[in-house]
Amino acid sequence: MASSEPQPANKQPHVLLIPYPAQGHVNPFLKLAKALHARGFHVTFVHTEYNHGRLLRARGAGAFDAGAEGFRFETIPDGLPPSDLDATQDIWALCEATRRTGPAAVRGLVERLNRTDGVPPVSCVVADGAMGYVVHVAKEMSLPAYLFFTHSGCGFVAYLNFDQLVKRGYVPFKDETFFTNGYLDTPVDWIADMLPGARLRDLPTFIRTTDPDDTMLTIIIKQCELDSPVADGILLNTFDDLERCSLDAIRARLPNTFTVGPLGPEVSPPSYLPSLTSSLWRDDDRCAAWLDGHGAEEDSKGSVVYVNFGSITVVTGEQMDEFAWGLAAAGCPFLWVVRPDTVRDAGGWALPKGFAEAVAGRGLTVGWCDQEAVLEHRATGGFLSHCGWNSTLESLRAGVPLLCWPFFSEQVTNCRYACEEWGVGLEMPREAGRREVEAAVRELMGAQGRGGTARRRAAEWKEKARAAVAPGGSSRVNLDRFIQEIARAKC
Ligand code: UDP
Repeated sequence: MASSEPQPANKQPHVLLIPYPAQGHVNPFLKLAKALHARGFHVTFVHTEYNHGRLLRARGAGAFDAGAEGFRFETIPDGLPPSDLDATQDIWALCEATRRTGPAAVRGLVERLNRTDGVPPVSCVVADGAMGYVVHVAKEMSLPAYLFFTHSGCGFVAYLNFDQLVKRGYVPFKDETFFTNGYLDTPVDWIADMLPGARLRDLPTFIRTTDPDDTMLTIIIKQCELDSPVADGILLNTFDDLERCSLDAIRARLPNTFTVGPLGPEVSPPSYLPSLTSSLWRDDDRCAAWLDGHGAEEDSKGSVVYVNFGSITVVTGEQMDEFAWGLAAAGCPFLWVVRPDTVRDAGGWALPKGFAEAVAGRGLTVGWCDQEAVLEHRATGGFLSHCGWNSTLESLRAGVPLLCWPFFSEQVTNCRYACEEWGVGLEMPREAGRREVEAAVRELMGAQGRGGTARRRAAEWKEKARAAVAPGGSSRVNLDRFIQEIARAKC
């Protein structure tokens, strides 16, 4: 289909999209969903009941009202006890619970949709790679099924080697001393498709376990060995120029892999179905005006360091104090996002005494922001990030260099590639105190030295990222190919 020409309801292809219920998954899924709707698909977008409740509280009922035909929302349970907290759920428990309760819920949902008057029968399922079990449900129901992994290609290569890491005896670790005794520096040069010099510490942190039956290890191996090969195709939010070697390795195992990223405004313009947004927290609307005030003059362009650790990272109060004082000492203006659930110490966390006075007029701390807008703003010149894949890609697309402080999962892999391969990142030590934070921020924001080099490389990647999703670009061509493939799969 080339356009959104109206079609008789029962002839319209109907795609069911099932993201893993975390912010960094729901965001790219919603963009893909809108792009499919714009191309004439009937779309059903599936949230968990928990996230549906959070979105309702953060955004109101409008977040589910497309104001257009053929875009509907449904919910499934996540298998965890009911809760109305506004916080990221435990990733381990969620993975285990969704895998246990998801199959019956998805099957029931498809059956119900197929009985609903005025709704075309489901013709294709696109599930999160982290919900790989859906592929088997779809196959039992004779439906084409695609897996959309929302992580990086380099992270995926590492995950595809988890099975080998176990077979070769690297994982599980022999005992807990292996977390700190230098074992993480063991080279893994036999993974030919990883960057030269890669070490165990550069692989997703889920290998850091002593338990042979570890939940995440087991689930990831299943996703790679049992779920992905059964899928009709794999989608990745990346682009060929950025991750060529990783993608060659992935395609050697999973040939029908579509790179469709970066899934940004070129693929899913904010003006299309604007009421449908996916942020689980409410944006603080002071950010744009504050940034305007710090980037208006030519010499203040790119002067602000933006600090955000994504939707899952949890930091101790002590670390937050060190960040606060490091930012204060670095001297540049900063926009710092401190999610309400960032610090889970008993008693919570508050900005340290004297901090507000120390940074008066040059620091804004908010609970959540429209990150893509912040990164696009001319005042933003650097991003202190946990290197979640969306954040990394959004930063590359905006041409903003990174100060990398990875927290868990494949963030460590993204950090390694950002620093060593793409040249857009500087790494900050894990145990950085205020002095290290100050020095790293100064270096990142400096016009010369490593910060200046990273800034120039980021500007180059910005052009390449945009070219990938422009007409004729690799990701645009792949998205078209994917759309044609699933449009043919009409029931
Ligand atoms: N995000 C946002 N506002 C914030 C923090 C994050 O809009 O204040 C968005 C960000 O743009 C990205 C997603 O949330 O799309 C976070 O995903 P990422 O993969 O970077 O990290 P995760 O949260 O999964 O660790």
